[in-house]
Amino acid sequence: MPEPMESSATIVATPSAMPSAVAAVRALRRRRFVRISSSTGADPDPPDPAASSRVARGTGACASGPAVGPVVGWAFTRRRRRRPPCPGGHRPLSVQTGRAAVLETYHEPLAIREFPLPEPEPGAILVRMEAGTMCGSDLHIWRGELGKSYTIPLPLILGHEMVGSIIAMGAGTDLDSVGTPLTIGDRIIWAGVPCHHCELCTVEHATTLCANRQMAPLRSCAGPPHFLGAFAEYGYISPGAGRLRVPDEVASEWASAGSCALRTCVQAVEKAGRVDFNDSVVVQGAGPLGLFATAILSTHGPRQLIVVGAPDDRLELAREWGATHTISIQEHPTPEARLEAIRSITGGGPRLAFELSGAPGAFAEGVEIVRANGRYVVVGTLGGGPQSIDPSRIVTRGLSVIGSMSGDTDVYSKALVFLRDHRDRFGWDRMLGNRYGLHNVTEGLEAMLSMSEIKPVFDPTLAG
Ligand SMILES: [Zn+2]
Ligand SMILES: [Zn+2]
Repeated sequence: MPEPMESSATIVATPSAMPSAVAAVRALRRRRFVRISSSTGADPDPPDPAASSRVARGTGACASGPAVGPVVGWAFTRRRRRRPPCPGGHRPLSVQTGRAAVLETYHEPLAIREFPLPEPEPGAILVRMEAGTMCGSDLHIWRGELGKSYTIPLPLILGHEMVGSIIAMGAGTDLDSVGTPLTIGDRIIWAGVPCHHCELCTVEHATTLCANRQMAPLRSCAGPPHFLGAFAEYGYISPGAGRLRVPDEVASEWASAGSCALRTCVQAVEKAGRVDFNDSVVVQGAGPLGLFATAILSTHGPRQLIVVGAPDDRLELAREWGATHTISIQEHPTPEARLEAIRSITGGGPRLAFELSGAPGAFAEGVEIVRANGRYVVVGTLGGGPQSIDPSRIVTRGLSVIGSMSGDTDVYSKALVFLRDHRDRFGWDRMLGNRYGLHNVTEGLEAMLSMSEIKPVFDPTLAG
């Protein structure tokens, strides 16, 4: 059983430290220089932007805000889209438990359960959950549809798109996966844990294909460290898991959405190879994958970027995010009708297509859509059973069919850069749905299932 939180020296506050800590935390939310005085009242030197933050790593007493140390100095504060303080009052870190929405029975409402907080072992980090977002894979897991592809160990904490702020750090966690310093209060996203020993991990650097990879949403919460899923008050980043500090300009909800769908698209576009002004590209699907892929591909400037999907509000967003044409599957309900519509735009068909819908039959349809010598990147189909195709259509037309599965820390990092650098162009909030707390995560899943929301948001501060 893990030790209680008080045993961690990094998170124990002294009363005299709190005024300074609170000042620093408030300033962090306002992005400005702030003078932080100690309890002795001694004023520090004037601000020095080059010195950047002097907010010390260390102590804090509230799980609802970033914990900072008993510092004296000037801090160049960072703007963060942080949530407001907990409506139900702050939960002191002396608490030894946290709550989570737990999947115990498929397709039943998630149950709120309480677990002891783990103390981070070396290489591990404990975070307070800032935000989560819901993914189509969560729906598949919730409804018990991934049983053929994966072992699903119930009970588990659902959700795998999340951002947390660090509240306790195990030894050796001072840097993220790309060398950025980490400290208490920093927001991070994190990945699954590949084995780092198999040929796929070490020789081919294809860690998302590692057969020994521990994927957080597919691990039981029955035993420590419990907090491996998104829809919880806390999260545990295991040793060996890639982790990245979220840039200050990137809202937690954006980073959360980017931690799965966007990184998947970043890798898929990379695997597709060159895309330029002379290309026509088809995106099958107007969900989070299709929309993020549209945004990325539009920055490559293809001659035609055609999104096939539904409903209309998603196609409208696709056009806002760079689609030159959209084809509604409601107005074109058959593969033949969609093929004709695409050919009327492109002539012989696109040079490149992405399967990002996961819809039954989408793959077989895509093979026909792509023109001879074209490339077809298959991403969205993670289940759904066999589809009938004629392999000679691939051979005689010289198609390159490429599978792409998720993405690891390298594309996570690029996804965060994309979110930050293109935030004015794409307005990432447009993809987000309503906010749901622990008590009604199931409602969010149902909203996603009904397609009334593209990406519902989990907000652990919402009381129910
Ligand atoms: Zn996902
Ligand atoms: Zn491996």
